[in-house]
Amino acid sequence: MVSIPTRLEQTRARIAAACNAAHRPLDSVQLLAVSKTFGADAVQQAFDAGQRAFGENYIQEALAKIDALAALRTQLQWHLIGPIQSNKSRPVAESFDWVHSVDRLKIAQRLSDQRPPTLPPLQVCLQVNISGEASKSGLTPAELPEVARAVAALPRLVLRGLMAIPEPAQDEAAQRVPHRALRGLLDDLRARLGHQAPQLDTLSMGMSADLEAAIAEGATIVRVGTAIFGGRG
Ligand SMILES: *Cc1c(COP(=O)(O)O)cnc(C)c1O
Repeated sequence: MVSIPTRLEQTRARIAAACNAAHRPLDSVQLLAVSKTFGADAVQQAFDAGQRAFGENYIQEALAKIDALAALRTQLQWHLIGPIQSNKSRPVAESFDWVHSVDRLKIAQRLSDQRPPTLPPLQVCLQVNISGEASKSGLTPAELPEVARAVAALPRLVLRGLMAIPEPAQDEAAQRVPHRALRGLLDDLRARLGHQAPQLDTLSMGMSADLEAAIAEGATIVRVGTAIFGGRG
């Protein structure tokens, strides 16, 4: 087995090469290490190798890890990237720094209401169903402007951008198509919302299999699990 620090190094090298190829500065892309299904020990190994931002899909599993690593809390950034049922929003509002998977206004309202006043505002992305798959969660592009406008007005959230999980595609040219579409939607939102959403700077897209395509199309956060932690079995 290749170690987590080595895999992390390899992933950073992939990101650097993709930034170079796209003529983008290295610090324009943040690596989110997706630690779902792996234990606090794996997160600790990545932390020791310099990684600070971690993505989780399942709320209960994430809360247990956040708790186990409470001593590192001020140094870690925890991002929720999986679905939220409305009756589970409170622990999310209380424990995470970012939520990438906001897919309806009601969830955003609950997160804003429940964000403790002692914490900074919760940073959020709206999830878009970019490939139009019936089985996938996410807003349709048509719904996006109205929901974004309402979310941007919530007092305890900061609307940062868009997130998508495109349908897998074989080659980089095909992978780039949905990523380009998401970037187009962010550009459109920026133009529509202007000063109503001054921090709209985030494109959360690209995973182990397609991070090069995502960076070529402007990803600012890539969410990488398998390439860092190994297969999830
Ligand atoms: C699991 C997951 C990832 C990471 O996927 P890998 O293919 O393991 O890199 C990224 N984003 C979301 C939303 C996920 O659920």
